[in-house]
Amino acid sequence: MVYGVSACIVRKNTKYDGKNNYNQAVIDFLKDKEYILICPEVMGGLPTPRVPSEQLNDKVINQIGEDVTTNFTDGAKKSLELLKEKGVEAVILKERSPSCGYKKVYDGTFSKTLIEGHGVFAKLAIENGIKIYTETDIKNMQEKNES
Ligand code: SF4
Repeated sequence: MVYGVSACIVRKNTKYDGKNNYNQAVIDFLKDKEYILICPEVMGGLPTPRVPSEQLNDKVINQIGEDVTTNFTDGAKKSLELLKEKGVEAVILKERSPSCGYKKVYDGTFSKTLIEGHGVFAKLAIENGIKIYTETDIKNMQEKNES
């Protein structure tokens, strides 16, 4: 099986602040697997570093009030196309991101308040039948295997 993976989890500096969200459990899990990297925000034309964004109702607004919804939706579509081309059926996504977040995202007030919901790309992936794991799922899976 080929996995799609949020690029920032495996040390690519695609995060809004120019850094990454490196996660050793995911890196270990992928060691003997085939995978392709996606970063929906970069694929939607946003620079790195960039102003952080959060979802607010049906839009994505950055911290200086600019509407970046089109970048997010374009990037989500491009990421999905790439995954479909490669026959990807499961992805490992970065939690809480306005693009990649699964089940919980920030509420649009930039106050670190989480609400239930998915990032823009995660929503599209779900609609297209792609199985979603997060870095915590992978860590839990590995801990279970080790015990
Ligand atoms: Fe990471 Fe996804 Fe944000 Fe890109 S859009 S930096 S892959 S969480």
